[in-house]
Amino acid sequence: MTLSPPPSRNARKAAPKRSAKTLRKAVHEPMRQSAPVPKSKLQQPRQPERPRRGGTDPGPRNVTVDAQNPDLFVPPKTDAGILPNLRFSFADAHMRLERGGWTREITVRELPVSTNMAGVDMRLNAGSIREMHWHKEAEWAYMLYGNARVSIVDDQGRIFIGDVGVGDLWYFPPGLPHSIQGLGPDGCEFLLVFDDGSFSEDNTFLLSDWVKHTPNEVLAKNFGVPAKSFARVPEPDQLYIFAGKVPPALSRDRDRKGVTPTPLPYIHRMMAQKPIKTRSGAVRITDSKNFPVATAIAAALVEVNPGGMRELHWHPNTDEWQYYLEGQARMGVFGSTGNARTFDYRAGDVGYVPFAMGHYVENTGTGPLRFLEMFKSPLFADVSLNQWLALTPPELVRASLDIDEKTVRALRKKKSPVVPA
Ligand code: MN
Ligand code: MN
Repeated sequence: MTLSPPPSRNARKAAPKRSAKTLRKAVHEPMRQSAPVPKSKLQQPRQPERPRRGGTDPGPRNVTVDAQNPDLFVPPKTDAGILPNLRFSFADAHMRLERGGWTREITVRELPVSTNMAGVDMRLNAGSIREMHWHKEAEWAYMLYGNARVSIVDDQGRIFIGDVGVGDLWYFPPGLPHSIQGLGPDGCEFLLVFDDGSFSEDNTFLLSDWVKHTPNEVLAKNFGVPAKSFARVPEPDQLYIFAGKVPPALSRDRDRKGVTPTPLPYIHRMMAQKPIKTRSGAVRITDSKNFPVATAIAAALVEVNPGGMRELHWHPNTDEWQYYLEGQARMGVFGSTGNARTFDYRAGDVGYVPFAMGHYVENTGTGPLRFLEMFKSPLFADVSLNQWLALTPPELVRASLDIDEKTVRALRKKKSPVVPA
């Protein structure tokens, strides 16, 4: 028996050289805030190696995806055991293209761990209409781009109608009918979050669908009009998201005779909120305390400067569903009993943290990192590891971790969601 040739490093040297052009293409990362990739990295794609561990990956490989997931490809030494997949990118989700825009979703079918929340990314062109509908789930939305007009009617026969722009959100309680329409100049794109992982945007109660499945004579009796009045209702598959005209000024749609407004607004200017600021970032928390109608979904918008990190923490109430708005990050998740995994994220990705699992989110890019944390809960809640240790009698903490007095003194009694504090 012959000895296998030593070290993978030699194998790497022996690998056939690829043209600089191919490699440049392969490691290109389409992030506008990315730093230029150093020349040395362009010449050699990364290999799954650490000192005295791993080897080259000489077989078929997707170098672009490897490069986007450095902490999956070469995990930190502290990763261990089994944790489910906690990342799914909207870039890997099916696009449903319609006459007035498009939609794609990440549900429990795409990300099996996400049993209690699902998300949708939707584009409405200027004037386009998401068909009037309702559903069993609560709907929480964040405006990513452009402007929209939304409306909702409650069970007391009152209406809320309002315009939303980037950084605004809306909340629609389960069962209440609503509409969304893209405004000028270029419509909108928004993120929707639902409080059930098995939600599908394809399974909502559509206005046209009900009318199409109701006999004309019943419609005539119900509305007190001739039966032929509903003869031209389009097929539901022609609506869903369909082209329309940009509506008139908000006041014309809102201030109509005989219409009673809801006592509470169903939209909220999240970015206008005063954030909790630290030296390394900012956090805005929106839940039923400052947005009273949002009784089923709470959220935090986290901004982390380059070099900063959303501190080690966990949530004592429920799972966390994340959407990355900007930048690059890695999240390490601790799942108890020796299980820990690290995932990488960038704009347009969804992350997930099961209930009670400890985690941190580190900015790994050269520009700002911005992401949303969403919770199926009326209130936002988190527990800071640092604060827990600072508030506990120091002798107890020192005995537990064998740390010196200086380290104990560095602990902070005041919570700092983004560090360095
Ligand atoms: Mn809806
Ligand atoms: Mn969290």
